[in-house]
Amino acid sequence: MRSKDGKNNNMTDKFILKKDHLVSFLRRLKKEYHLVAPVKNIQGDTMFTLVDSVDEVEFDLVNQAVTSIKPFLFPQQETLFTYETSANGDYRFDSVCNSQPTVYFGVHSCDLSAVLYMDVTFSLTARDPYYLEKRKNAVLISVGCNEPSENCFCNAAKTGPFLEYGFDLQLTDLGNRFFVDVGRATGQEIVSKWQHFFAPAEEEDVKLQYQTYLEARGKFTRQVHMDQAIKRLKSGKVPESIWSELSLRCQDCSGCAYICPTCTCFSISDRKLSEHEGERLRSWDACTFSGFTRMAGDHNPVDHRTQAIRQRFLHKMLYDVQKHNRPSCIGCGRCVGICFGGVDIIRFIDLVTN
Ligand code: SF4
Ligand code: SF4
Repeated sequence: MRSKDGKNNNMTDKFILKKDHLVSFLRRLKKEYHLVAPVKNIQGDTMFTLVDSVDEVEFDLVNQAVTSIKPFLFPQQETLFTYETSANGDYRFDSVCNSQPTVYFGVHSCDLSAVLYMDVTFSLTARDPYYLEKRKNAVLISVGCNEPSENCFCNAAKTGPFLEYGFDLQLTDLGNRFFVDVGRATGQEIVSKWQHFFAPAEEEDVKLQYQTYLEARGKFTRQVHMDQAIKRLKSGKVPESIWSELSLRCQDCSGCAYICPTCTCFSISDRKLSEHEGERLRSWDACTFSGFTRMAGDHNPVDHRTQAIRQRFLHKMLYDVQKHNRPSCIGCGRCVGICFGGVDIIRFIDLVTN
């Protein structure tokens, strides 16, 4: 890991991977793992994609992917189990809980922090075997952000632009080569197994990596006062007019929750597939849907017109701080880009702190 002064205190976990070797390295990885990576599609959008052939895709490690890796670990809709009944009253349940060893390559620091948040969510009160099975098989290779995107504020959320922990390997772009930090044991195993791709980092590489990190920290265009907003929320001094103004602008589409790497609400439904067969599904849900709090008899205890957005922002910046001592907004800025009502978290923070 990097020390605070940029000095190298452990050269055995720092390597150099030449960019010319990247595709060959990924080809090797793909022989043993499924590979999910940010790939530019034909529309020019960067999407995390299950890669079929590393030679036929264009990797994009620079631009923020449209979506995070959340859908791979916590799919938008997922079958939990199937069931079968017979005429004599017998029945059978089959759990659908499986996953393949998968390398998630090129994950930006904020999105990796979101996975760390989901780890807590899906194991805190009850262990969720569906998420944890996929997570157990996940290898995370992150990439630090030399150039934060326009709406990013991971500096304020303390989730980037580079990480100190949580990754198996962390890459830093140093021009013609990647600086490689080894994090968890699987990262070390990968480097040891394919060591011909990795050269020990030199002292000057360590210095350049640290300089890159410092420069990246100075490149954020947004000034987002998250800590100050949390203090205001804790003090209960947010005027009602802010909630109602934002709620009136909200169009109930839940794009913000679906795009958000840390929104993890879901609902459960059963689907009949035939006379004797069916499945139980888990599907994403969102607190900004008016139906989220609707009860039997059509009663809704939440006045959606004036309170639609309250739960979302309180959950991210107050309840999670109270429960886990940190907000669950990781500062990716995606909700800024997606909300056509202008009800994104930066606007909320600005309103609360001004
Ligand atoms: S806040 Fe914006 S993105 Fe979220 S549900 Fe409302 S309109 Fe949609
Ligand atoms: S609330 Fe917005 S900025 Fe924060 S993590 Fe979710 S999508 Fe990203």
